Amino acid sequence: MQKKLFSLLIVLLVLSCKTKEKQMAYKTDSLEIGALTEHTYQHTSFLETESFGNVACNGMIVVNNGEAIVFDTPTNNKVSSELIDWLTAQDITVKAVVATHFHDDCVGGLKTFHEKGIPSYANQETIRLLAGKEAEIPQNGFTDFTELRVGSKKVVLDFMGAGHTNDNIIGYFPRTIS
Ligand SMILES: [Zn+2]
Repeated sequence: MQKKLFSLLIVLLVLSCKTKEKQMAYKTDSLEIGALTEHTYQHTSFLETESFGNVACNGMIVVNNGEAIVFDTPTNNKVSSELIDWLTAQDITVKAVVATHFHDDCVGGLKTFHEKGIPSYANQETIRLLAGKEAEIPQNGFTDFTELRVGSKKVVLDFMGAGHTNDNIIGYFPRTIS
């Protein structure tokens, strides 16, 4: 009996996960959004490159209490508009955008965010690397570490040293299980 109940619970759990993901997912030729957890989503857009062809580029969205912080813009302004419109349609206000390094797959749509009055954040080194280029520059710089509020929670931006690029930071959403 217990075994049966346990199996039923698993089935229900799987079904509920599937339903939730389906509800929050979005897919067009230019943009895909899928739920990772209750409060985090992955956005995927595409970048046409000379050396690697059409490359899928991922970013993260953290959502809490009707607010969102977007990590890395979609690859261009048009798709960034599409992303912001989708969030707005879910009654979610985009509070900030974070560029995790200076490449196009992080800042390619920054102009759209700025035009919509959404403030941007990046490592000071990212701002320095973009300064000489024909690119939209993130508005707020930090060194080493900073935190931003989203709803009643916080996200952490942390420079832990050079990796993919000299300026790359990690963004994460710490959550204590209660
Ligand atoms: Zn890159």
